[in-house]
Amino acid sequence: MNLILMGAPGAGKGTHAKGISERYSIPHISTGDILRDEVAKGSELGKTAKSYMDDGKLLPDDIIIEIVKQRLKEDDCKSGFLFDGFPRTIVQAKKLEGIADIEAVIYLKCDDEILLKRLTGRRMTDDGRIYNVYFDPPPPGVEVYQRDDDNEETIRERLKIFYETFAPIMDFYKQRGVFHEIRGDEEREVVFRNILSILEDI
Ligand code: AMP
Repeated sequence: MNLILMGAPGAGKGTHAKGISERYSIPHISTGDILRDEVAKGSELGKTAKSYMDDGKLLPDDIIIEIVKQRLKEDDCKSGFLFDGFPRTIVQAKKLEGIADIEAVIYLKCDDEILLKRLTGRRMTDDGRIYNVYFDPPPPGVEVYQRDDDNEETIRERLKIFYETFAPIMDFYKQRGVFHEIRGDEEREVVFRNILSILEDI
């Protein structure tokens, strides 16, 4: 199953991607996670990526396409994959078409007010768990950190870029008949159930 999970930053893509990936045994490919790994390693790519990420800006399409092409060559992608945070521009969506067939795009729609709270309150653990100081605080003793780009100024820039780039991508996948929209600001279990009911039909 070749899938894309879309949504503004904070819409719950990371959380639900994890669930979908486990359920269907397909890798969860987050371009943001790949870039953050490169930043942590201090690689050349990481150094380039950091300057864009710190400002909430998108990396050039060519760099992202190359990362995705290489990732899709890995063995675990043979029976499908789930993209999270990719494609982010219409250029990326069109380039992806030459590389893989997409069966479903699920868009998690959320109000901005909720997105802001989710992002400013978001805290992560080293092993990939996601908490929120407002809605789902980390248990006492659990060590958490905050993403560098989860500060209000960068968040506003990321949201602005998301809304500028999203509409053409949505139209592109609507024309291909693979676009599905659900609310991402309901209870986590409800959102996940709605995602599964879409996937069961494809
Ligand atoms: P994310 O974890 O998906 O919110 O991505 C964090 C940051 O990584 C973004 O704000 C961008 O700077 C960069 N990034 C991730 N995915 C992409 C992409 N598909 N195209 C361009 N930049 C990206």
